[in-house]
Amino acid sequence: TERTLILIKPDGVARGLTGEILRRAEAKGYRITRLTQVEARAEQLAAHYAEHEGKPFYQPLVDFMSSGPLVAAVLEGDRVIEGFRSLAGATEPTTAAPGTIRGDLGRDWGEKVQKNLVHGSDSPESAAREISIWFD
Ligand code: ATP
Repeated sequence: TERTLILIKPDGVARGLTGEILRRAEAKGYRITRLTQVEARAEQLAAHYAEHEGKPFYQPLVDFMSSGPLVAAVLEGDRVIEGFRSLAGATEPTTAAPGTIRGDLGRDWGEKVQKNLVHGSDSPESAAREISIWFD
């Protein structure tokens, strides 16, 4: 079994999609083992997005992620890291495949940052690092 850190970004929480997104993960067979709603602290976002520091979308991304509450969760299951990223779909909601969270529910038009509803860790190392950022 494996663990991943997911975030429901402020657009997802504000649009009332928390339940729908968690429903899709549970329906796939993943277990929610930690769940919390938080207002992200600046140092949490700096740590979470350290790899993107200096990129043109970094500040808009941090501002967006600070714009309202987000939901952090730990999911467990076989190959859940790859599996949740597959459920989430491609980064850009406009071109994310139908059937995915971003493809079915995302709306990114006219934005400086991709407001793409969710984040999921991309490797076991990222998952361990990110879980420690969002959970004690
Ligand atoms: P995740 O958000 O799950 O990490 P990802 O791998 O698709 O998925 P990253 O490349 O890690 O995303 O980028 C982090 C976030 O930054 C994206 O989810 C998106 O919100 C935003 N982002 C990434 N690339 C761009 C871009 N070129 N323009 C605007 N926003 C972007």
